[in-house]
Amino acid sequence: MLELYNSLSRTRETFKPINEGRVGMYTCGPTVYHFAHIGNLRTYIMEDVLDRYLRYSGYDVKRVMNITDVGHLSGDSDDGEDKMVAGARREHKTVLEIAKFYTDAFFEDCKKLNIRRPDVVEPATHCIGEYIRIIKKLLDTGYAYVSDGNVYFDTSKLGEYYVFNRQNEEDLAVGVREGVEEDKAKHNKTDFVLWFTKSKFEDQELKWNSPWGVGYPGWHIECSAISIKHIGEYLDIHCGGIDNAFPHHTNEIAQSESYLAHKWCNYWFHVLHLNTTSGKMSKSTGEFLILKTLEDKGYAPVVYRFFCLQSHYRKSLVFSYEALDNARGAYDKLISRIAQLDGGANEVDAASFDAYKARFVEAMDSDLNTSLAITAVYDVLKADIDDATKLALLDDFDRVLCLDLCKNASAKRAADALAQQQKSGDPEILAAIERRAEAKRNRDFALADAIRDELATRGITLIDTKNGTEYRIEQK
Ligand code: AMP
Ligand code: ZN
Repeated sequence: MLELYNSLSRTRETFKPINEGRVGMYTCGPTVYHFAHIGNLRTYIMEDVLDRYLRYSGYDVKRVMNITDVGHLSGDSDDGEDKMVAGARREHKTVLEIAKFYTDAFFEDCKKLNIRRPDVVEPATHCIGEYIRIIKKLLDTGYAYVSDGNVYFDTSKLGEYYVFNRQNEEDLAVGVREGVEEDKAKHNKTDFVLWFTKSKFEDQELKWNSPWGVGYPGWHIECSAISIKHIGEYLDIHCGGIDNAFPHHTNEIAQSESYLAHKWCNYWFHVLHLNTTSGKMSKSTGEFLILKTLEDKGYAPVVYRFFCLQSHYRKSLVFSYEALDNARGAYDKLISRIAQLDGGANEVDAASFDAYKARFVEAMDSDLNTSLAITAVYDVLKADIDDATKLALLDDFDRVLCLDLCKNASAKRAADALAQQQKSGDPEILAAIERRAEAKRNRDFALADAIRDELATRGITLIDTKNGTEYRIEQK
């Protein structure tokens, strides 16, 4: 049985979906005003592991993700300006242009990191009607009010607002006020905007008609509405990075449950941050690394996934190139060891398979302990079982880990065989190369070309270098 830490109860709970065998999972998507940084990607990698492990465990998962292309202000509590507007200004483009560019870039990164695309991906700008419908009901039922042109959620109407944490109100409210003038139109300091109309952000590019005037939605309402639209009134798991817990997820719960008049989401899955040695990696401070930087430095994206999987999602992780080098060294060694296995025609031994699979499942069932799951991979390699069973186990675990274990091991095997062959050289090919060199010395270029062309028909390419002619055999 899968046990997951639930931020809502602050305990580990046995996971039980609302409908047997089916899981509704919602993930806060990226704010597409810049490239995702490797901290954001840590969160998406760990959410992907959860998604894949649920499927591996036999659940039919429906996963929904929004794309935040409007309404996320530079302060998470409705202050500052829309991040998308600032991004568009920075790049002299329209908001929709940068939204498209960075959404595509995000999914390219996901593909490289073996992050499965969610079943539904919904840009926030596509759901204006849904936000208006929810906000109308919140106004009708007294959970919202109009003040100074904006529509606000009234947190004083709630029995409990700080759902994730019992810290005192003053401490938590710091995040709301940080470096900003308090919004005088709010009735309570924790109230938040559902719809901006007469806003202080005159240059807002995307605006829509609403019963309260032309404007645009607040950030929090997007996730509630998109989740309810695609998953329904009851949600099993909601995911995000830990910074989303307050105020974003807190506000999502406030408005969703007030709108639905019942409990909305059962499990809250929060991934802790990737930090640099000097603090949190953050897009807004501009101090961040993107996947391409790692690739440009020669790190394969799967090495970053391995680096993330080596530690538990509920521990913050400090990034350094030294730590990434260690991960790369360990990954390469792991691949080399797998490359030495010879599956041959042997049958998989079912009893050993089940015994070692149980170790992997035990690790993952224990609040998604990926570092122990990687230990289970090493246990398989060390085990006194045949290679065919080992390879079958690694293939099975990799349905969740997605570290390209067997794929990269067979690529390594092929590359090693080729290198070996080239080092020793095939006598027949070497003789043909010598005949061609002789023909060239005799200025019989037609013969030289004929020898080269004949080799090419067999997939053998000649490469003339200043130290002589080498050859490469194309892999079929
Ligand atoms: P954003 O694009 O800013 O909306 O963030 C996308 C996701 O990344 C959210 O789930 C955030 O909570 C998460 N996130 C932001 N910063 C970090 C970080 N340094 N480490 C891990 N996750 C993060
Ligand atoms: Zn969200």
